[in-house]
Amino acid sequence: MDYLSIIEKSYRYTENLKDRGLLATYIPELANVDPTKFGVHLITVDGDKYGLGDHQVKFSIQSISKVLSLTLAYRILGEKIWKRLDVEPSGTKFDSLILLETFQGIPRNPFVNSGALVICDILISHLDNAHDEFLDFVRDISDLPDLKYSDHIADSEKSMGYRNVAMCNFIKSFGNIENEPEDVLDFYFDVCSLEMSCEQLARTFGFFANGGCKISDGKRVIPKSQTKRINALMLTCGFYDESGEFAFKVGLPGKSGVGGGIVAVYPNNYSVAVWSPGLNPKGNSYMGMKFLEELTTHSELSIF
Ligand code: GLN
Repeated sequence: MDYLSIIEKSYRYTENLKDRGLLATYIPELANVDPTKFGVHLITVDGDKYGLGDHQVKFSIQSISKVLSLTLAYRILGEKIWKRLDVEPSGTKFDSLILLETFQGIPRNPFVNSGALVICDILISHLDNAHDEFLDFVRDISDLPDLKYSDHIADSEKSMGYRNVAMCNFIKSFGNIENEPEDVLDFYFDVCSLEMSCEQLARTFGFFANGGCKISDGKRVIPKSQTKRINALMLTCGFYDESGEFAFKVGLPGKSGVGGGIVAVYPNNYSVAVWSPGLNPKGNSYMGMKFLEELTTHSELSIF
């Protein structure tokens, strides 16, 4: 497969689109990002890499890190984890509170904000120091020993995080948050604050394309069965109320964040990350979605 020419073709097509979507301004720090940034990076399970544009510029990965916090929590708890949250698409925006009332504080899935808050609560309950141990986990799978939380992004989100505060307290009222909401929220904002480039992000998610083992050194992160299940969740819930559209147009498991990043995996083949900060009305990168649609169209490769 000639990935380089397929990526180039898809990149050029997307670059010429007039619309680029809108920055996520509800987190003040994200409103300061240059909206013209656009980068892509693909790594195959054989370790071949292809990058274009701003693929080495770091950006806020935001909700993409929800996949990594789930991975660590699932590794610790196993199937018991599903007593605390469900595995169903929400069909709602990422920060919606509506279904929490209907389902008595059980989030629909781990990738909406409510689900990620419950995952943070689980990690705090099961680890001595969730902040440090989650960071160590991500440092290990990303091969980025110096990775840090971004204080300015976490503080910026916290300064306006009223909705997440309401959500965490609401879940606590149903008994599905064990720790103090303030501690859960602080950890949640840190988890969302991680910054990576497309190159680093594609590498970090490589194990989802490689049966649960890191591409760089073959080290197992999670069992094959958990890899399959998290990939299934990315396919069905990775793009909130646009998950169906992403499966329909792109046909790969993936996850987006309001920083404008998207990572997608083609199991047994590659992991790809794309970043363009402008979002569509559903909160997913406008150009990122278009690029990935082009990529799977031209390569004629998808899981379907
Ligand atoms: N930190 C963001 C929030 O809680 C994450 C949302 C996202 O990336 N979709 O709103």
